[in-house]
Amino acid sequence: MTTQVLEETIIRNRDVSVFYGDKQAVSNINMDIQRNSVTAFIGPSGCGKSTLLRSMNRMNDLIPNCRVTGSIVVDGIDVNSSRVNIEGLRQVVGMVFQRANPFFKSIYENIAFAPRFHGVRDKRKLDEIVEGSLKKAALWDEVKDRLHDSALSLSGGQQQRLCIARSIAMEPTILLLDEPASALDPISTMKIEELVMSLKDEYTIVIVTHNLHQAARISDKTAFFLMGELIEYDDTSKMFTSPQHERTEAYISGRFG
Ligand code: ADP
Repeated sequence: MTTQVLEETIIRNRDVSVFYGDKQAVSNINMDIQRNSVTAFIGPSGCGKSTLLRSMNRMNDLIPNCRVTGSIVVDGIDVNSSRVNIEGLRQVVGMVFQRANPFFKSIYENIAFAPRFHGVRDKRKLDEIVEGSLKKAALWDEVKDRLHDSALSLSGGQQQRLCIARSIAMEPTILLLDEPASALDPISTMKIEELVMSLKDEYTIVIVTHNLHQAARISDKTAFFLMGELIEYDDTSKMFTSPQHERTEAYISGRFG
């Protein structure tokens, strides 16, 4: 008897293109992303990885002249619909950026801010959210005795895990991580990688990384992009051992990049 692992699509991209003014940055992407998996976007700088990532929670709306075409359906939400509730969408699809960007507030307030804004007033409930989110982001033990210190007193790696905790506090389904460890030292990077792998039990994670070793270590699926096109998308183990396309092979073996 064979055991079949069932994969369930949570993000469905169909013919997704993104333009900055007249310039096309992402071309006709068709790709299904699986629930409770880590998907890595790799490819040389400027190939459209971040642009595609940002289109999954309408962050490109913040960039003047940026236009997205095609269909993106995230956990049943038609992302590009004019009727979509963008705040609600971003609650479902959280995002963490390359540079940690904590608020100029305490560690506690960084986590409690959004839930309170969305109506959670009960102090005990907020305490629970803060503790639970920090635990999930593997930061609780390091900060539990200094919750009211400024978030800026944390190290860069801790600040990045705080930003992940801040996203988790909104109970997202999906976390988009845009090079979350690229500004960090090796130990902090390792902590983020361990965290990402542990989070996939509960969340679906899409991570942009320029670090091929990182993609190989932490992702289930890898997507390789070149000049706005999706060249190859497959199980990470397969991509890194027997890529189907010559250009993927060339990139992975370090012949360009
Ligand atoms: P990657 O994440 O793979 O490095 P990006 O998505 O950042 O690539 O960029 C893809 C292309 O879009 C590049 O040519 C880049 O110069 C362009 N681009 C990215 N952001 C903007 C922007 N805000 N305005 C204009 N062009 C942009």
